[in-house]
Amino acid sequence: MKRRSKTSQWHRRHVGDPWVKQAQQAGYRSRAAYKLLEIHQSERLIKRGQAVVDLGAAPGGWSQVAAEVLRGEGVVVGVDLLPVDPLPGVAFVQGDFCEDEVRARVLAATERSHVDVVLSDMAPDLTGVRSTDQVRSIALAEQVLAFARCALNPQGVLLMKVFQGEGFDGLFADFKASFSRVKTKKPVASRDRSRETYLLGGGLRT
Ligand code: SAM
Repeated sequence: MKRRSKTSQWHRRHVGDPWVKQAQQAGYRSRAAYKLLEIHQSERLIKRGQAVVDLGAAPGGWSQVAAEVLRGEGVVVGVDLLPVDPLPGVAFVQGDFCEDEVRARVLAATERSHVDVVLSDMAPDLTGVRSTDQVRSIALAEQVLAFARCALNPQGVLLMKVFQGEGFDGLFADFKASFSRVKTKKPVASRDRSRETYLLGGGLRT
């Protein structure tokens, strides 16, 4: 039997995906926008006037949602390895979030000493080797948590993507030690088969 390549399997799923169609019709740059919308609708994550940092922002769906909520009051700064086409109300920094210099540029772009919301939909480039991908994903998530602990104001919130698997329990323990209010979220638009989940924390513990 003829085997389909991983790319063609992804393409077929992508084209037939109702969230992709909905995002295209609504003018969102990614289906991922619906994940943030759903979580924002239940949790009121972002409020007008706030400073929001969007880690792993390309192509810009989450930044669009954040800017829509702020309606010109507040600031959104996105960062990604990839370039992002300009969006009204959003500043983008291109670079590797894991580098100190890039983080400093992101914080400088907010023009605030601390931020109110850190969002991270970042995922490392997948190698296809599950154990390697899992280790990289947890390492990235740990960096996000460390960044949020420094960058957030005490009432700030962190929403970040992580993958269930090896290393998750340790990360989750660190997350719970960092915030007084913690939830796990699995939005409907997060495909059922995906191991991704979102951790939401508020009320930084010092
Ligand atoms: N939330 C985005 C949206 O709605 O358009 C989609 C984000 S996509 C799932 C994950 C992004 O994380 C990719 O664009 C990738 O380039 C970015 N990324 C991964 N590692 C990164 C790093 N170390 N620094 C900056 N961006 C990174």
